[in-house]
Amino acid sequence: MNIPMVDLKSQYLKIKNEVDAGITKVIDNTEFVNGTEVKELKKELADYLNVKHVIPCANGTDALQIAMMSLGLEPGDEVISSDFTFIATVETIALLKLTPVMVDVLPDTFCIDPDKIEKAISPKTKAIIPVHLFGQSCDMDKIMEIAKKYNLFVIEDTAQAIGSNFTSKQGWTKKAGTIGNIGCTSFFPSKNLGCYGDGGAIFTNDDELAEKISSIVNHGMKIRYYHDRIGVNSRLDTIQAAVLRVKLPHLDEYNSARRKAADYYDKAFKNCSKITTPYRSEFSTHTFHQYTLILNNVDRQKLMEHLSSKGIASAIYYPLALHNQKAFQEFDYNPSDYPVTNKLCETVISLPMNTELDNEKLKYICDSVLEFVENK
Ligand SMILES: *Cc1c(COP(=O)(O)O)cnc(C)c1O
Repeated sequence: MNIPMVDLKSQYLKIKNEVDAGITKVIDNTEFVNGTEVKELKKELADYLNVKHVIPCANGTDALQIAMMSLGLEPGDEVISSDFTFIATVETIALLKLTPVMVDVLPDTFCIDPDKIEKAISPKTKAIIPVHLFGQSCDMDKIMEIAKKYNLFVIEDTAQAIGSNFTSKQGWTKKAGTIGNIGCTSFFPSKNLGCYGDGGAIFTNDDELAEKISSIVNHGMKIRYYHDRIGVNSRLDTIQAAVLRVKLPHLDEYNSARRKAADYYDKAFKNCSKITTPYRSEFSTHTFHQYTLILNNVDRQKLMEHLSSKGIASAIYYPLALHNQKAFQEFDYNPSDYPVTNKLCETVISLPMNTELDNEKLKYICDSVLEFVENK
C-alpha cells in the first residue's frame, strides 16, 4: 500500500465533472480576476460561516498581513501569538515591523495558553492572534475576556479549522474565525477547504473593517486609480473561486470524513500507553486538519522510517518551535518560557489525515504503528 498524508486526486475524481465545468466556464468567459465566481463565493462562504463580510485574498499569509494592516497598528506595537504554529502567523507580525510576542501552548490542545497570554501583555500590546491549531478552536471565551479587559484586537488564524464550531459558556455557538474582530483562513490545497493553487480569505462582522480590508487587498482603492491608502495586490483567482464553490457544499461532509478517520485511530490506540491520542476539548468541535499523536518514550525517527518502509507517510508539525527559528533570532526569546512547545516539538507525530481514508487503509496504518511501538 501507498498512503500519502493527503489524497487530493481521489477527492477530485469524485467532483471532477463539476470542477472541470467550473474551470472551463471561467476560461470561456475570461473573468479571470474578480469574476462572478469570486462574488458568489463571498456570499456562499459568508452564509456558511454566518459572518457579515468575507473578503477573499491570494493566500492565508496575506490574509493575516492584511488583517493587521487594517487595524492601524504602529511599528513597535506588540502582537501576541502562539509559538507552536506555522510560521506565517508570526512572520507577518514581524514583516509589518510589529513585535511578535510568542506564548507557550497548552499540552492537551496545542493551542495558545490563555493564562500565559495575560502574563505576556505589556502597555505596547495591541492584538492577539489565536491559532486554532490542527482543527480545534482555542478557548475563545477566555481570549475574548482578556482582549476586552486590556482593549486588544483579536485576529483568529483559522487556516486549519474552517468549519469548526466553538460553543461559548454563555450558550452560543459560532464558527471558528467569526468570534474575534477578524478571522483569516487559507485555501492552500491541503487545507480542509482547499483550492487548486493558493487562496485565502478574511472574515469580519465589522462594516468599517470590512471596507478597509476590501480596499487594502486591492491597492487601497475603491474608485479605480484613486488610492486612499497603501495596500497590496492580493486577490483570489476566479478559477480558484470556481473550485471552492464546488467544494464548499462538501465541507461538512469532508470534515466528518476526517472525524471518522480520527475516531478509528483513537480507538485503535486507546490502550497503548506509549501513545497519547488527540485531546478533544469540550467547547470546540474538531475538524482534524491534522491527526497528531504525542509519543511517550518512542524513537520517533525510527517509527517514521518503519512507516515509510511500509509505504505510509507521516510528518512532524512542527519540528522547531518558532522561538528557536533563525528568522526570529533578533527577538531574543527565552527558551525556558516555552516548556510545552519544546516538549511537543520532540514528541509529536502526525499520521495521514484526509477525506479518502477507508477502514482498510486505517487498519493498515494502525497495525503498522502498533507493530513498531509495541515491538511486535
Ligand atoms: C497554512 C497556514 C497559514 C498560511 O496559509 P497560506 O495560504 O499557505 O499562506 C497560516 N496559518 C496557519 C496556521 C496555517 O496552517
